[in-house]
Amino acid sequence: MSDLAEFLRARYTEQLEAQGRISRDAYQADAPCPVCQKPTWGMSVYVGDPSRLAKFEPCEHEINDPEQLDQFQEPAPDPDVLADLDAKLAIVDLHAGPHECSSYDAISREINACQWVPGGDCTTLRLLAKPFGEHRDYKVEEWAV
Ligand SMILES: [Zn+2]
Ligand SMILES: [Zn+2]
Repeated sequence: MSDLAEFLRARYTEQLEAQGRISRDAYQADAPCPVCQKPTWGMSVYVGDPSRLAKFEPCEHEINDPEQLDQFQEPAPDPDVLADLDAKLAIVDLHAGPHECSSYDAISREINACQWVPGGDCTTLRLLAKPFGEHRDYKVEEWAV
């Protein structure tokens, strides 16, 4: 598998794992706040990269310990997001090794529909990688479209 395919696979796998930890409903059970032990009536969760932050109502205490957070949440992944990530992982598989693929001519932007790609760094995967351009492992020189 090419570096680019591995990079994309890692990003989508991270996103899938993050989906598995997300709750889309405010916490409504009668468990006490883990910080002050007072009764709560809700909890807002903010999902960021790499950690999540939960704020309890009404005491406004915040926690970001993943293990503590998981005690208060049911995983509720978004089926649309999961389907999107599954499709992208399948696309990565299809383009990971040597294959024939479509590419742009760098200058004319004409499409060459059957270019042989020996290593798997094709235009399709480069386009998929574009949204991750700020990631520390993104190779600007090699993968720019
Ligand atoms: Zn509290
Ligand atoms: Zn391809």
